[in-house]
Amino acid sequence: MSNKRDFYDILGVSRNASAEEIKKAYRKLAIKYHPDKNPGDKEAEEQFKEAAEAYDVLSTPEKKQRYDQYGHAGMGGASGFQGGGFSMDDIFSQFGDIFGDENFFGSFFGGGNGGRGGNRRPVGSAIRIKIKLTLAEMRNGVEKKVKYRRLVEAKGVQYTDCRNCGGSGTMRRVTNTFLGQMATTTTCNVCQGMGKVISSKPKEANDFGQIAEDFETTIKIPGGVADGMQLSVNGKGNYGPGGGIAGDLVVLIEEVEHEELTRDGKNVIYQLWLSFPEAAMGAQVEVPTIEGRAKIKIDHGTQPGKVLRLKGKGFPDLNGYGTGDQLIVINVFIPHKLTSEEREMLLKLQESKHFKPDEKNHETGFFDKMKDFF
Ligand code: ZN
Repeated sequence: MSNKRDFYDILGVSRNASAEEIKKAYRKLAIKYHPDKNPGDKEAEEQFKEAAEAYDVLSTPEKKQRYDQYGHAGMGGASGFQGGGFSMDDIFSQFGDIFGDENFFGSFFGGGNGGRGGNRRPVGSAIRIKIKLTLAEMRNGVEKKVKYRRLVEAKGVQYTDCRNCGGSGTMRRVTNTFLGQMATTTTCNVCQGMGKVISSKPKEANDFGQIAEDFETTIKIPGGVADGMQLSVNGKGNYGPGGGIAGDLVVLIEEVEHEELTRDGKNVIYQLWLSFPEAAMGAQVEVPTIEGRAKIKIDHGTQPGKVLRLKGKGFPDLNGYGTGDQLIVINVFIPHKLTSEEREMLLKLQESKHFKPDEKNHETGFFDKMKDFF
Protein backbone atom coordinates (compact mmCIF):
# COMPACT_ATOMS: atom_id res chain seq x y z
CA MET A 1 0.00 0.00 0.00
CA SER A 2 2.69 2.46 1.00
CA ASN A 3 5.59 2.95 -1.36
CA LYS A 4 7.51 4.98 1.16
CA ARG A 5 10.92 3.84 2.29
CA ASP A 6 11.43 2.67 5.83
CA PHE A 7 12.44 5.62 8.03
CA TYR A 8 15.22 3.63 9.70
CA ASP A 9 16.62 2.67 6.28
CA ILE A 10 16.51 6.28 5.14
CA LEU A 11 18.65 7.39 8.07
CA GLY A 12 20.75 4.24 7.88
CA VAL A 13 20.29 3.34 11.53
CA SER A 14 19.08 0.16 13.24
CA ARG A 15 15.64 -0.06 14.79
CA ASN A 16 17.09 0.19 18.27
CA ALA A 17 19.30 3.17 17.54
CA SER A 18 19.51 5.71 20.37
CA ALA A 19 18.14 9.23 20.03
CA GLU A 20 21.72 10.48 19.77
CA GLU A 21 22.54 8.05 16.92
CA ILE A 22 19.40 9.07 15.07
CA LYS A 23 20.28 12.73 15.42
CA LYS A 24 23.84 12.15 14.25
CA ALA A 25 22.72 10.17 11.20
CA TYR A 26 20.28 12.89 10.25
CA ARG A 27 22.85 15.66 10.63
CA LYS A 28 25.11 13.89 8.19
CA LEU A 29 22.35 13.48 5.60
CA ALA A 30 21.05 17.02 6.08
CA ILE A 31 24.50 18.41 5.36
CA LYS A 32 25.06 16.07 2.42
CA TYR A 33 21.76 16.84 0.69
CA HIS A 34 21.34 20.46 1.72
CA PRO A 35 19.90 22.46 -1.21
CA ASP A 36 22.58 25.14 -0.88
CA LYS A 37 25.16 22.48 -1.55
CA ASN A 38 23.21 20.85 -4.38
CA PRO A 39 21.63 23.73 -6.27
CA GLY A 40 19.01 22.64 -8.78
CA ASP A 41 19.47 18.97 -7.92
CA LYS A 42 15.93 17.61 -7.59
CA GLU A 43 17.06 14.24 -6.39
CA ALA A 44 19.14 15.70 -3.60
CA GLU A 45 16.17 17.82 -2.60
CA GLU A 46 13.95 14.75 -2.42
CA GLN A 47 16.52 12.97 -0.28
CA PHE A 48 16.83 16.04 1.88
CA LYS A 49 13.07 16.04 2.45
CA GLU A 50 12.88 12.32 2.97
CA ALA A 51 15.57 12.44 5.64
CA ALA A 52 13.86 15.36 7.36
CA GLU A 53 10.57 13.52 7.54
CA ALA A 54 12.23 10.35 8.81
CA TYR A 55 14.01 12.37 11.47
CA ASP A 56 10.86 14.21 12.45
CA VAL A 57 9.13 10.92 13.18
CA LEU A 58 12.00 9.03 14.78
CA SER A 59 12.97 11.94 17.02
CA THR A 60 9.47 12.51 18.41
CA PRO A 61 8.76 9.77 20.98
CA GLU A 62 5.04 9.52 20.33
CA LYS A 63 5.42 9.55 16.54
CA LYS A 64 8.24 7.01 16.76
CA GLN A 65 6.14 4.70 18.91
CA ARG A 66 3.27 4.93 16.45
CA TYR A 67 5.59 4.32 13.52
CA ASP A 68 7.19 1.30 15.21
CA GLN A 69 3.75 -0.13 15.85
CA TYR A 70 1.85 0.72 12.71
CA GLY A 71 4.42 1.68 10.10
CA HIS A 72 3.68 4.41 7.59
CA ALA A 73 -0.07 3.90 7.91
CA GLY A 74 0.09 5.10 11.50
CA MET A 75 1.68 8.32 10.30
CA GLY A 76 -0.96 9.50 7.91
CA GLY A 77 -0.23 9.86 4.25
CA ALA A 78 -1.27 6.41 3.16
CA SER A 79 -4.15 6.36 5.58
CA GLY A 80 -5.61 9.61 4.43
CA PHE A 81 -4.00 11.94 6.91
CA GLN A 82 -2.05 14.87 5.86
CA GLY A 83 1.55 14.11 6.41
CA GLY A 84 3.49 13.23 3.34
CA GLY A 85 4.18 16.78 2.26
CA PHE A 86 7.00 17.98 4.44
CA SER A 87 7.65 21.55 3.37
CA MET A 88 11.03 23.24 3.28
CA ASP A 89 9.76 25.58 5.97
CA ASP A 90 9.08 22.63 8.23
CA ILE A 91 12.54 21.31 7.61
CA PHE A 92 14.40 24.51 8.29
CA SER A 93 12.40 25.13 11.43
CA GLN A 94 13.56 21.70 12.58
CA PHE A 95 17.20 22.69 12.35
CA GLY A 96 16.90 24.77 15.48
CA ASP A 97 16.60 21.55 17.46
CA ILE A 98 19.05 19.45 15.59
CA PHE A 99 21.93 21.85 15.21
CA GLY A 100 21.23 23.56 18.46
CA ASP A 101 21.80 27.25 18.69
CA GLU A 102 24.92 26.89 16.62
CA ASN A 103 23.45 27.16 13.20
CA PHE A 104 25.94 25.12 11.25
CA PHE A 105 24.45 26.07 7.95
CA GLY A 106 25.39 29.62 8.54
CA SER A 107 29.05 28.67 8.58
CA PHE A 108 28.96 25.69 6.21
CA PHE A 109 27.12 27.39 3.46
CA GLY A 110 27.85 31.01 4.04
CA GLY A 111 24.18 31.62 4.69
CA GLY A 112 23.13 34.03 7.37
CA ASN A 113 21.20 36.71 5.65
CA GLY A 114 20.11 34.53 2.80
CA GLY A 115 16.68 33.96 4.25
CA ARG A 116 16.69 30.33 5.14
CA GLY A 117 18.94 29.35 7.96
CA GLY A 118 18.63 32.95 9.04
CA ASN A 119 15.11 34.12 9.65
CA ARG A 120 13.25 31.08 10.71
CA ARG A 121 9.54 30.73 11.01
CA PRO A 122 8.63 29.42 14.43
CA VAL A 123 6.38 26.38 14.57
CA GLY A 124 3.33 26.72 16.79
CA SER A 125 2.56 24.30 19.60
CA ALA A 126 0.43 21.20 19.17
CA ILE A 127 -3.20 21.10 20.22
CA ARG A 128 -4.55 17.89 21.69
CA ILE A 129 -8.16 16.84 21.40
CA LYS A 130 -10.10 13.65 22.07
CA ILE A 131 -12.52 12.03 19.67
CA LYS A 132 -14.96 9.34 20.76
CA LEU A 133 -15.67 6.69 18.16
CA THR A 134 -18.12 3.80 18.09
CA LEU A 135 -16.92 0.35 17.05
CA ALA A 136 -18.61 0.87 13.67
CA GLU A 137 -16.74 4.15 13.13
CA MET A 138 -13.46 2.49 14.07
CA ARG A 139 -14.21 -0.34 11.68
CA ASN A 140 -15.24 1.70 8.65
CA GLY A 141 -13.35 4.91 9.15
CA VAL A 142 -15.18 8.20 9.49
CA GLU A 143 -14.92 11.90 8.86
CA LYS A 144 -15.41 13.95 12.01
CA LYS A 145 -16.04 17.63 12.24
CA VAL A 146 -14.18 19.09 15.20
CA LYS A 147 -14.20 22.52 16.79
CA TYR A 148 -11.55 23.99 19.03
CA ARG A 149 -9.69 27.20 19.65
CA ARG A 150 -6.24 27.87 18.33
CA LEU A 151 -3.74 30.70 18.45
CA VAL A 152 -3.49 32.87 15.35
CA GLU A 153 -1.88 36.22 14.76
CA ALA A 154 -4.13 39.07 15.85
CA LYS A 155 -5.14 41.62 13.25
CA GLY A 156 -3.18 44.83 13.34
CA VAL A 157 0.04 43.52 14.86
CA GLN A 158 2.98 45.56 13.65
CA TYR A 159 6.62 44.66 13.61
CA THR A 160 9.91 46.43 13.32
CA ASP A 161 13.26 44.94 12.50
CA CYS A 162 15.03 43.54 15.52
CA ARG A 163 17.73 45.97 16.52
CA ASN A 164 19.83 43.37 18.25
CA CYS A 165 20.52 41.39 15.09
CA GLY A 166 19.70 44.00 12.51
CA GLY A 167 16.80 41.94 11.21
CA SER A 168 18.80 38.88 10.22
CA GLY A 169 17.57 36.74 13.10
CA THR A 170 21.10 35.53 13.70
CA MET A 171 24.24 36.68 15.44
CA ARG A 172 27.60 35.97 13.86
CA ARG A 173 30.46 35.02 16.03
CA VAL A 174 34.05 34.31 15.05
CA THR A 175 35.96 31.85 17.20
CA ASN A 176 39.50 30.61 17.00
CA THR A 177 39.85 26.87 16.70
CA PHE A 178 42.77 24.62 15.88
CA LEU A 179 41.51 24.64 12.31
CA GLY A 180 41.80 28.37 12.18
CA GLN A 181 39.09 30.98 12.50
CA MET A 182 35.58 29.66 12.33
CA ALA A 183 32.47 31.75 11.95
CA THR A 184 29.41 30.37 13.62
CA THR A 185 25.97 31.86 13.58
CA THR A 186 23.69 31.75 16.58
CA THR A 187 20.01 32.54 16.82
CA CYS A 188 19.31 36.05 18.07
CA ASN A 189 18.02 35.80 21.61
CA VAL A 190 15.92 38.96 21.41
CA CYS A 191 13.73 38.02 18.44
CA GLN A 192 14.29 34.23 18.70
CA GLY A 193 15.47 34.16 15.11
CA MET A 194 12.50 35.94 13.57
CA GLY A 195 14.44 39.07 12.72
CA LYS A 196 11.59 41.26 13.90
CA VAL A 197 9.91 42.31 17.10
CA ILE A 198 6.38 43.52 17.81
CA SER A 199 6.09 47.30 17.80
CA SER A 200 2.35 47.53 18.39
CA LYS A 201 -0.50 45.13 18.89
CA PRO A 202 -4.19 45.21 19.82
CA LYS A 203 -4.70 44.94 23.57
CA GLU A 204 -6.57 41.61 23.37
CA ALA A 205 -3.50 39.97 21.88
CA ASN A 206 -0.98 38.10 24.05
CA ASP A 207 2.72 38.95 24.25
CA PHE A 208 3.32 37.17 20.96
CA GLY A 209 0.65 39.18 19.16
CA GLN A 210 -1.74 36.26 19.06
CA ILE A 211 -5.36 35.63 19.94
CA ALA A 212 -7.31 32.38 20.34
CA GLU A 213 -9.78 31.88 17.55
CA ASP A 214 -12.56 29.32 17.01
CA PHE A 215 -11.50 26.84 14.41
CA GLU A 216 -13.50 24.11 12.75
CA THR A 217 -12.11 21.38 10.57
CA THR A 218 -12.90 17.90 9.34
CA ILE A 219 -10.63 15.04 10.27
CA LYS A 220 -10.51 11.90 8.21
CA ILE A 221 -10.02 8.84 10.38
CA PRO A 222 -9.06 5.58 8.67
CA GLY A 223 -10.76 2.26 9.43
CA GLY A 224 -8.81 0.15 11.93
CA VAL A 225 -7.91 2.74 14.55
CA ALA A 226 -8.17 1.68 18.19
CA ASP A 227 -8.74 3.13 21.63
CA GLY A 228 -5.69 5.05 22.88
CA MET A 229 -4.20 5.63 19.46
CA GLN A 230 -2.99 9.14 18.63
CA LEU A 231 -3.11 10.66 15.19
CA SER A 232 -1.28 13.81 14.19
CA VAL A 233 -2.70 16.16 11.62
CA ASN A 234 -0.14 18.62 10.26
CA GLY A 235 -0.83 22.32 10.30
CA LYS A 236 -4.01 22.35 12.39
CA GLY A 237 -2.46 23.30 15.71
CA ASN A 238 -1.51 26.73 17.06
CA TYR A 239 0.30 29.08 14.73
CA GLY A 240 3.84 30.02 15.62
CA PRO A 241 4.14 33.74 16.48
CA GLY A 242 5.17 36.32 13.93
CA GLY A 243 3.91 34.65 10.77
CA GLY A 244 5.04 31.24 11.96
CA ILE A 245 3.90 27.83 10.84
CA ALA A 246 0.96 26.04 12.43
CA GLY A 247 1.83 23.07 14.65
CA ASP A 248 0.09 19.72 14.73
CA LEU A 249 -3.35 18.76 15.88
CA VAL A 250 -3.00 15.58 17.94
CA VAL A 251 -6.16 13.50 18.06
CA LEU A 252 -6.56 10.92 20.81
CA ILE A 253 -8.97 8.13 19.88
CA GLU A 254 -11.41 6.95 22.55
CA GLU A 255 -13.72 3.99 22.16
CA VAL A 256 -17.39 4.36 22.99
CA GLU A 257 -18.27 1.21 24.90
CA HIS A 258 -20.59 -1.15 23.04
CA GLU A 259 -23.40 -2.70 25.08
CA GLU A 260 -22.81 -6.24 23.91
CA LEU A 261 -19.55 -6.46 22.02
CA THR A 262 -15.98 -6.12 23.22
CA ARG A 263 -12.92 -5.54 21.11
CA ASP A 264 -9.79 -7.63 21.22
CA GLY A 265 -7.25 -6.27 18.75
CA LYS A 266 -8.59 -6.88 15.27
CA ASN A 267 -11.32 -9.22 16.54
CA VAL A 268 -14.60 -8.47 18.19
CA ILE A 269 -15.98 -10.83 20.82
CA TYR A 270 -19.54 -11.67 21.70
CA GLN A 271 -20.54 -13.85 24.65
CA LEU A 272 -23.57 -15.84 23.53
CA TRP A 273 -25.71 -17.38 26.22
CA LEU A 274 -27.79 -20.42 25.20
CA SER A 275 -30.41 -22.19 27.25
CA PHE A 276 -29.60 -25.79 28.01
CA PRO A 277 -32.26 -27.11 25.56
CA GLU A 278 -30.95 -24.83 22.78
CA ALA A 279 -27.43 -26.15 23.25
CA ALA A 280 -28.66 -29.74 23.33
CA MET A 281 -31.16 -29.61 20.45
CA GLY A 282 -29.64 -26.89 18.26
CA ALA A 283 -31.24 -23.55 17.40
CA GLN A 284 -31.30 -20.52 15.16
CA VAL A 285 -30.23 -17.46 17.12
CA GLU A 286 -29.63 -13.83 16.37
CA VAL A 287 -26.40 -12.19 17.47
CA PRO A 288 -25.30 -8.55 17.38
CA THR A 289 -22.42 -7.60 15.09
CA ILE A 290 -20.76 -4.23 14.60
CA GLU A 291 -22.96 -3.67 11.56
CA GLY A 292 -26.28 -4.89 12.91
CA ARG A 293 -27.65 -8.32 13.69
CA ALA A 294 -26.80 -11.67 12.10
CA LYS A 295 -28.59 -15.02 12.25
CA ILE A 296 -26.46 -18.00 13.10
CA LYS A 297 -27.18 -21.71 13.39
CA ILE A 298 -26.29 -23.54 16.57
CA ASP A 299 -25.67 -27.24 16.03
CA HIS A 300 -27.27 -29.73 18.37
CA GLY A 301 -24.87 -30.86 21.06
CA THR A 302 -22.99 -27.56 21.15
CA GLN A 303 -20.71 -27.42 24.20
CA PRO A 304 -20.09 -24.37 26.38
CA GLY A 305 -16.75 -22.83 25.50
CA LYS A 306 -17.10 -23.51 21.83
CA VAL A 307 -16.09 -20.51 19.72
CA LEU A 308 -17.87 -19.72 16.48
CA ARG A 309 -16.32 -17.34 14.01
CA LEU A 310 -17.91 -14.81 11.69
CA LYS A 311 -15.15 -14.22 9.18
CA GLY A 312 -14.25 -10.65 8.32
CA LYS A 313 -16.68 -9.10 10.81
CA GLY A 314 -13.89 -7.60 12.90
CA PHE A 315 -11.62 -4.63 12.26
CA PRO A 316 -9.40 -3.97 9.25
CA ASP A 317 -5.66 -3.77 9.84
CA LEU A 318 -4.34 -0.22 9.55
CA ASN A 319 -1.53 -1.43 7.31
CA GLY A 320 -3.85 -3.45 5.14
CA TYR A 321 -2.95 -6.86 6.54
CA GLY A 322 -6.39 -8.45 6.45
CA THR A 323 -9.44 -8.02 8.58
CA GLY A 324 -10.32 -9.51 11.95
CA ASP A 325 -13.27 -11.74 12.77
CA GLN A 326 -16.16 -11.77 15.18
CA LEU A 327 -15.72 -14.55 17.72
CA ILE A 328 -18.84 -15.90 19.33
CA VAL A 329 -18.11 -17.63 22.62
CA ILE A 330 -20.81 -20.12 23.62
CA ASN A 331 -22.03 -20.11 27.20
CA VAL A 332 -24.79 -22.38 28.49
CA PHE A 333 -27.13 -21.06 31.11
CA ILE A 334 -27.78 -23.27 34.12
CA PRO A 335 -30.95 -22.34 36.02
CA HIS A 336 -30.32 -20.74 39.41
CA LYS A 337 -33.52 -22.16 40.92
CA LEU A 338 -36.06 -24.77 39.99
CA THR A 339 -39.77 -25.38 40.59
CA SER A 340 -40.60 -28.86 41.94
CA GLU A 341 -41.97 -29.72 38.51
CA GLU A 342 -38.70 -28.76 36.78
CA ARG A 343 -36.77 -30.63 39.40
CA GLU A 344 -38.73 -33.82 38.69
CA MET A 345 -38.08 -33.52 34.96
CA LEU A 346 -34.38 -33.05 35.57
CA LEU A 347 -34.24 -36.05 37.89
CA LYS A 348 -35.64 -38.14 35.07
CA LEU A 349 -33.11 -36.72 32.62
CA GLN A 350 -30.27 -37.32 35.03
CA GLU A 351 -30.92 -41.05 34.87
CA SER A 352 -31.44 -41.23 31.12
CA LYS A 353 -28.98 -42.52 28.58
CA HIS A 354 -27.30 -39.42 27.08
CA PHE A 355 -27.05 -37.27 30.16
CA LYS A 356 -23.96 -38.70 31.81
CA PRO A 357 -20.86 -36.62 31.03
CA ASP A 358 -18.84 -38.65 28.57
CA GLU A 359 -15.13 -38.21 29.15
CA LYS A 360 -14.17 -39.52 25.72
CA ASN A 361 -16.77 -37.77 23.72
CA HIS A 362 -17.04 -34.22 25.06
CA GLU A 363 -15.50 -31.39 23.14
CA THR A 364 -12.56 -29.47 24.51
CA GLY A 365 -13.38 -26.48 26.63
CA PHE A 366 -12.93 -22.77 26.13
CA PHE A 367 -9.22 -22.45 26.85
CA ASP A 368 -8.21 -25.37 24.65
CA LYS A 369 -10.29 -23.90 21.86
CA MET A 370 -8.86 -20.44 22.23
CA LYS A 371 -5.39 -21.80 21.51
CA ASP A 372 -6.45 -22.17 17.89
CA PHE A 373 -7.06 -18.46 17.65
CA PHE A 374 -3.97 -16.97 19.18
ZN1 ZN B 1 17.00 39.69 16.54
